[in-house]
Amino acid sequence: MKHAKKILGLIGHQVGYSLSPFLHNIAFEHLGLPYFYTLFEVYPPERLTAALDGAKALGFLGFNITIPYKERIVPYLDALSAEASEVKAVNTLLNQDGQWIGYNTDIFGFAEPLLPFKSQVNGSEVVVFGAGGAARAVVQALRQFFKPKQVWIVARDEAKAELLKEHFERRSKSLKLSACAIDKASLESVLGTARLLINATPVGTDSTALPQLKTARLFPAEWKIWSPEKIAYDLVYRPQMTPFLYEAQAHGARIISGLEMLLAQGAKSFKIWTGQELPRDVVRAALQQQLKESEH
Ligand code: NAP
Repeated sequence: MKHAKKILGLIGHQVGYSLSPFLHNIAFEHLGLPYFYTLFEVYPPERLTAALDGAKALGFLGFNITIPYKERIVPYLDALSAEASEVKAVNTLLNQDGQWIGYNTDIFGFAEPLLPFKSQVNGSEVVVFGAGGAARAVVQALRQFFKPKQVWIVARDEAKAELLKEHFERRSKSLKLSACAIDKASLESVLGTARLLINATPVGTDSTALPQLKTARLFPAEWKIWSPEKIAYDLVYRPQMTPFLYEAQAHGARIISGLEMLLAQGAKSFKIWTGQELPRDVVRAALQQQLKESEH
């Protein structure tokens, strides 16, 4: 079929907010590649296997997978990359000769923008807010690419933070992990000594669907925890400058935007599907413009 495009897309629930179609389609257009990326709302979860079977029958090339399926999809796949198998979570699928292969590009996607700060992260204390799928990829990345002294998993439900900690402790004891509730009084001193603070929750997201999250806070405003030696990394990319990053920067801390992770994980998925490098600068500029327009 001369004019047929290879189909890719995002599978999840409430996927309308996603910038992934924009990111990939800009790159396909720029490079003149015959691929098309779109959104697939799959809900309720019982429809997931039918969606995968249908996509395989239609010869779709692959998918990104998002909330709530990153972990749930694992048993339905034919093979997993080493990283996906380690965290038991998948965000990228490739249809390889009729077999669904699962990858996790969030791990490298998170690590890449942090690599320039490796010497500051190694030997330091790190705080990860959140105990969901993204936090899981973050802890794996910290374990795989860095050597922090200690990683605190901080969640509003301490039991979930504890479960994530145990998941990694079953695999290796080389990384010192602690679980902590977000409302513990002792959190102020933990945040005070940590060098790197990571927001792996949706807090700060500017979305009409989630208005309560824009003004929610991870810790009280009066806590004096930011200083120029610290690094703030927010996985949220809408808005590009979240309240978490804004406060950190106002006190001289270094900041990393979720947009950089979005680009890095997207570049890795793009390579898996096309074998080519994502034209990063072209895509970054287009995404920044798109986000700027939607923030007004
Ligand atoms: P998830 O699996 O639903 O986990 C979300 C985590 O945030 C859970 O621990 C949840 O706690 C916690 N949380 C939710 N609302 C909170 C609040 N108001 N206060 C404190 N904690 C709260 O979601 P995910 O896949 O981990 O994604 C987390 C965020 O990272 C999302 O905003 C997502 O868009 C972003 N993300 C960005 C990239 C990127 O490329 N930049 C990649 C992946 C994810 P409970 O379990 O108690 O609900």
